[in-house]
Amino acid sequence: MQIITSPAELQKICLQWRCEGVKVGLVPTMGYFHEGHKNLMKIAREKSDKLIVSLFVNPTQFGANEDLDAYPSDHEGDANDARALGADILFIPKKGSMYAEDHATWVEVPQLAKGLCSVTRPTHFRGVSTVVTKLLILTLPEYAVFGEKDWQQLAIIRRLTRDLNLPTTIINGPLIREEDGLAMSSRNAYLTQEERAQAKHLNAGIQAGAEAFKQGERDVEKLKAVIRSYWKEHLPLGKEDYLEFIDPDSIEPVTTITDKARCAVAVYVGKARLLDNWPFYL
Ligand code: AMP
Repeated sequence: MQIITSPAELQKICLQWRCEGVKVGLVPTMGYFHEGHKNLMKIAREKSDKLIVSLFVNPTQFGANEDLDAYPSDHEGDANDARALGADILFIPKKGSMYAEDHATWVEVPQLAKGLCSVTRPTHFRGVSTVVTKLLILTLPEYAVFGEKDWQQLAIIRRLTRDLNLPTTIINGPLIREEDGLAMSSRNAYLTQEERAQAKHLNAGIQAGAEAFKQGERDVEKLKAVIRSYWKEHLPLGKEDYLEFIDPDSIEPVTTITDKARCAVAVYVGKARLLDNWPFYL
C-alpha cells in the first residue's frame, strides 16, 4: 500500500488507471477507523481492481466552535487497518494541499442540505459536498462507498454525483453498530463511561418507536412521543438536537407514514453528538 500525500500525485496515478480501464473503488473517511469504516473498505475492495482510502479531516465541514482540533486521530493504526483490508493507496493529503488560500468554489445541494443536521451545522454539507466532489474528481472512481450512518450526507452525495455527471456509482454501506445497538462512530471516543452506558438507549428509544409502528401506529407525532418518553427515562444525559421522520430519498419531513419513512436522530451526549437512523417501512 502506497501512502500518498499530494493531490496532484494521486490524480496522476488515477488518470492513468482510468485510461487503462482499471476500476477504482474509493472510500472517503476522516480516519480513526472502526468496523463501520472497515466494512466500507471491504465492499469497495470486492467490487474494484484498486482500492483507495482517503483520510482527511476536512476543515470546511466543521463550524467555528466544533471539534476540528480535537478530532480523534491514529494514522499508524489506520494505515495498518487499510493495508490489512487490501487498500492500494491511502491518501492523507498534507496540510494546506486540498484548499488553496484563496479557494472560492463550493458545491451546494440546498434542496437536501436543509433540516436535520443543517439546522445546527448550517455550513457542514457545503464542506462535505465540496470535498467529496474534489475527491471524486481527483480519483475518478468507478465506485465510491459511503455509510448509511450519515443518511442525509448519502442523499446529498448521490444527488451531486448525478447532477454533475460524475462518472462514479455511489454505493451504500450498511450502518454498523456496537453489540448494544450504538452506531459506531469515531466520536464515540468522546464518551465517558457513564455516557457510554446510557448511549445504547439512543437506538433502544428508536426501537420502542419501531415497536409502536409494528403495532400499527402511523402518526409521526405519536411515534416521536414514544421515542422521547423512552429517552427521558433511560437517556437523561442526552440532549436532543433533532428527531425527525423523513422521506428516505427527498429528506422531506413526513407526518403520517403511508409507505416508507426513515427516522433520523441526533442527540448530544456529553461532548459527542450521536447520530442514528432507522427504517420505518411498511
Ligand atoms: P467519517 O470518518 O466519520 O467521516 O466517515 C467516513 C465514512 O464512514 C462515511 O461514509 C460514513 O457514513 C461512514 N461511517 C461512519 N460510521 C459508520 C457506521 N457506524 N456504519 C457505517 N458507515 C459508517
